Amino acid sequence: LLAADGTIAATIFAEMSALAMRTGAINLGQGFPDEDGPAVVLEAARQAIADGVNQYPPGIGAPVLREAIAAHQRRWYGLEFDAASEVLVTAGATEGLAATLLALVDTGDEVVTFEPYYDAYAALIARAGGVHRTVPLRFPDWRPDPDELRAAVTDRTRVILVNSPHNPTGAVLDPETLALVVELATRHDAIIVTDEVYEHLTFGAPHVPIATLPGARERTISISSGGKTFSTTGWKIGWLTAPASLVTSVLAVKQYLTFVNGAPFQPAIAVGLGLPDSSFTDAAAALGAKRDVLAAGLTAAGFAVSLPEAGYFIVADAAPLGHDDGAALCRQLPELAGVVGVPVTAFVHPDRHEASRSLVRFAFCKRLEVLEEASRRLAGLS
Ligand code: PMP
Ligand code: GLN
Repeated sequence: LLAADGTIAATIFAEMSALAMRTGAINLGQGFPDEDGPAVVLEAARQAIADGVNQYPPGIGAPVLREAIAAHQRRWYGLEFDAASEVLVTAGATEGLAATLLALVDTGDEVVTFEPYYDAYAALIARAGGVHRTVPLRFPDWRPDPDELRAAVTDRTRVILVNSPHNPTGAVLDPETLALVVELATRHDAIIVTDEVYEHLTFGAPHVPIATLPGARERTISISSGGKTFSTTGWKIGWLTAPASLVTSVLAVKQYLTFVNGAPFQPAIAVGLGLPDSSFTDAAAALGAKRDVLAAGLTAAGFAVSLPEAGYFIVADAAPLGHDDGAALCRQLPELAGVVGVPVTAFVHPDRHEASRSLVRFAFCKRLEVLEEASRRLAGLS
């Protein structure tokens, strides 16, 4: 991702969306929904613009949104955060992650993540001067080995960065792993950073934030975003909740990244966060039905599928179809089947591609008829 001359390559998502545009293939690569979120949320943004909410909001975020985030954490998880000092609005979860890692990680500090990992993690850790240590998650059940996790965390660890529900695998970390993360972070005095952008998109058990575990809250920065929950990925309204001293450190960095963001979208996301529980659970159920359609389509086409418990994505193994190189397959897929996916190697360090070589990630956050058409096209692969 960082070339020898220090330049940064285009992300796999930009590359694959461009391929889809160029070829007219169905884009199951980049994860974004093809339908907009709740009408009241969209209307609230229009209203905010009409009402003149168009200038810089406060750096820490609009009070109405910070209150709504604190209320959301209380309502869903029983977590108490002071809206004035323990909640920070960011330009998507991406800026929350960037500002957090730049604030916490000094040259040589180690950051532990699971692998595969969301691609931004490696880039941000590198830019902060940190050293990236990884713990493998293996297809198809993605359960980490506790001994490998124990071995990765040492006194050099500054941050353990967890992502549950997980991109790209759709896995939800089991309670024992979450507890072990807290135990290791406490023993080695590390900060837990948790990326929970898929918190409401679960198809089985409800999401358990790691901050709810005993001893976790005081050393955890929880990051989320309205993009996934309200199907507004382009609005880039994210947030984090953490003890006030950590919020202050992250805000110090955020002020020189974006300063502030998304004035009229902030009150609109506040409206979304206040919607009844059924609005969240109905959206997850509808997405679960889409998962089932694409999983059936991929299975019928001959892929070996790992059924995700949450999120936007299915990881499928193309090896049974005779394709051992997922990256090569993804480049050919528009021509072979009129579909775009993303190779899982994009989420793995180049030195460790072997175990993920034949795996491809497909997004199912699309209309049912799009998933059905993609399934029909993929059926022609075998
Ligand atoms: N974390 C994960 C795991 C993601 O999948 C994404 C992108 N969908 C982000 C962070 C970035 O979120 P945002 O669009 O709010 O910046
Ligand atoms: N998070 C989305 C994905 O994983 C898109 C992110 C992006 O385009 N950077 O596909």
